[in-house]
Amino acid sequence: MSRLPLVIYPDDILKTRCSDITELNQELVDFLHNMAETMYLSHGIGLAAPQVAENIRCITVDVEPDKGGKTLMHLINPVIVDSHGRTIYEEGCLSFPGLAAEVKRKKEIHVQAYDLDGGLLDFEADGLLAICIQHEIDHLNGVTFVDRLNDVQKKLILREYLRQRAEDEEDATVEAIRAVHGK
Ligand code: ZN
Repeated sequence: MSRLPLVIYPDDILKTRCSDITELNQELVDFLHNMAETMYLSHGIGLAAPQVAENIRCITVDVEPDKGGKTLMHLINPVIVDSHGRTIYEEGCLSFPGLAAEVKRKKEIHVQAYDLDGGLLDFEADGLLAICIQHEIDHLNGVTFVDRLNDVQKKLILREYLRQRAEDEEDATVEAIRAVHGK
């Protein structure tokens, strides 16, 4: 297994609708294992394929990462077939380092997907698992959690995020120049 590089916002990969997966082969199985590895090493509880630069419909989710992988799910072509209720939760995203915002979601969802063996998964989820699966499926549709905020909130939060990133990049450049000059 290997850690894959994360795609960071703004990147068009995160705004692109992903294609259905039509063939379950070893390459896909290896890719999903690498996604899970990347998710754990990045301390995330969910990861969608476009976040590691593949515009295909699969996600990994583990909302209890301290259970040693027992609650890990690989979902291929996941679909929410039914949903109920409302909930609000402060979400973050591995593609938006340092950013968090309260997002409204459905409270309970009914999900269908394929697993790594090609078996059909059909289950209901609520709580953090339901929130996480909705967040990751949004990624497959080119939607990020900031797109779930109202226009004013989105504008403000993205302005601050991009300003912070520009500052971080400037700092990194200064560091690199110092390193080259041995100061
Ligand atoms: Zn995300």
